[in-house]
Amino acid sequence: MFRAIVDNIKGLWSLIVGLSITGRFFFSPVKTVHYPRQVVDPESLASYRGPLELVPADDVGGSKCVSCQMCVRACPGNCLTVIKGKEGKAPETYLYDFTLCCLCAACVESCPTSAIRFSHNVYLTARTREELHMDLLADLKARAAKASQ
Ligand code: SF4
Ligand code: SF4
Repeated sequence: MFRAIVDNIKGLWSLIVGLSITGRFFFSPVKTVHYPRQVVDPESLASYRGPLELVPADDVGGSKCVSCQMCVRACPGNCLTVIKGKEGKAPETYLYDFTLCCLCAACVESCPTSAIRFSHNVYLTARTREELHMDLLADLKARAAKASQ
């Protein structure tokens, strides 16, 4: 009899604790969004690591990259291919295989000119692996063209 009363009190206490947690989260601000009707607040993405992108050096799609290969050597996943152009230090090719990237930031931290960074693209989707093989120079130029419109 005594044991049954203790068990009932324990069960009731467990119920009260569970309901108090549910109630607390029920009335706290919603953290998810109804995409695509709503989008994520850009300010909350400051530390988000999306796929890499080149940092623009000017308004016409120029890059700060000097083709030094430090990022290529630092990358544990062999994700990056950088080929220097024939004139100057700017690259003529900058390829990034996002399927191999673990977002470790070794490339970003090793870059002497701060030429690469993580994007805040939370909306990236792909139907094939090839769509995640990215040409970062082309992406940089596309972003510059879009910004100038
Ligand atoms: S974040 Fe890491 S894995 Fe991804 S490209 Fe940079 S170094 Fe390679
Ligand atoms: S480390 Fe920086 S400057 Fe050097 S190749 Fe990579 S992105 Fe370009």
